[in-house]
Amino acid sequence: FLASAAAREPKLKSFTLPPDADAVRAAAKAVDAKRAKGEPLGRLAGVPVAVKDVLCTKGVRTTCSSKMLANFVPPYDADAVERLKGADAIVFGKTNMDEFAMGSSTENSAFQATRNPWDVERIPGGSSGGSAAVVAGCQAPLSLGTDTGGSIRQPAALCGIVGLKPTYGRVSRYGLIAFASSLDQVGPFTHDVTDCALMMEAIAGHDARDSTSVAEPVPHYTRTVNDPVKGLRIGVPKEFFGQGLDAEVEAAVRGALKEYEKLGATLVDVSLPHSPYALAAYYIVAPAEASSNLARFDGMHYGHRTATKGDLIATYSKSRGEGFGPEVQRRIILGTYVLSSGYKDAYYLKALKVRRLVKKDFDEAFKTCDVVMGPTTPTAAFKAGEKSDDPLALYLSDVYTVSCNLAGIPGLSMPCGFTTAGLPIGLQLLGAPFEEEKLLRVARMYE
Ligand code: GLN
Repeated sequence: FLASAAAREPKLKSFTLPPDADAVRAAAKAVDAKRAKGEPLGRLAGVPVAVKDVLCTKGVRTTCSSKMLANFVPPYDADAVERLKGADAIVFGKTNMDEFAMGSSTENSAFQATRNPWDVERIPGGSSGGSAAVVAGCQAPLSLGTDTGGSIRQPAALCGIVGLKPTYGRVSRYGLIAFASSLDQVGPFTHDVTDCALMMEAIAGHDARDSTSVAEPVPHYTRTVNDPVKGLRIGVPKEFFGQGLDAEVEAAVRGALKEYEKLGATLVDVSLPHSPYALAAYYIVAPAEASSNLARFDGMHYGHRTATKGDLIATYSKSRGEGFGPEVQRRIILGTYVLSSGYKDAYYLKALKVRRLVKKDFDEAFKTCDVVMGPTTPTAAFKAGEKSDDPLALYLSDVYTVSCNLAGIPGLSMPCGFTTAGLPIGLQLLGAPFEEEKLLRVARMYE
């Protein structure tokens, strides 16, 4: 993997920090030594795992693909990283992303734009585009991403791999640099569903350092992943098959649903009547939380400090103006606007009410089905540069992914076919809270 990562990096630009060959070899040696001594080995012993550069890694630079944190070296590991190390996995470089996880194409990185391994003229999706590209491009077998509004599932779909956003609270957010705290979740990118189950076993679990982490026991996902779900009922929401959905994507998803029927599943019509409002609600709630979370990067407490001398306010604004890229600045301005006195009721509080209704729609749907299925994205991977001047067009590509985060439920994307141009298409599976186990089994049935 060291050789493969290095050989493909010039084209893919997946890493903000490529794997350190010496450190990787030393970690591999430590695993060998453990084995030689007859000590028990972790579930991921010796397996390289690339880590999105939004997760803190002790002693290893963590940038969020931002100039603001270009020189930040965390003194601790994120909980998910700590658990991977505990399972004897080897941290294998830090992956490129949209700055502070804001974007859907990995073109908002302050350092470089990652490309899609299936067609290097195209984007890999985002914001965890680097983590998706390393797995799809065989630079690493596994990686970690984060998903606030689709950032694991969308790049997994566009890169033809498996990606899972766990239930909110399933994986600790400790050491994950916050974008929108009520939506953020850490999750895996893998080649197949079994690996995804294995990764989930390693990273899930209660952590007292994240107050929203849930103290539910972690099921043995790998033990049950091959058990098909008997009498499976698949909810098909008409709202996920409307205007804007590419015909080839729709055909592939409908083809997958047919396969499930052949496997004995029943398709049931479900309605998610508030999903047309989910995108608007998301783009109010997420920037609102981001504007608050990113207030700490002021050049004093954290982050880049301007070289220009001035008073306190000038230092703050210069530092933030220099440190944050255009999309991050746009979100901060949007977020402070929707939270400001006089507008808070009209925008932020309204969006919270919509969020509640989106969640209620899913509660209703799961009364009549086990999982909800639809496309992960409205189109396959688009060309690099195609949407970089049009933030609104980019926001629209999140139309099928954001509801899952607003509702806090788990969502998985897996490959279900190709366009005629040979680009992968993703099938999205959504489950009831904490039903990752069922989600993985259902995904495995089709695989
Ligand atoms: N594309 C969405 C956004 O820009 C989602 C990002 C994410 O999940 N981190 O906000």
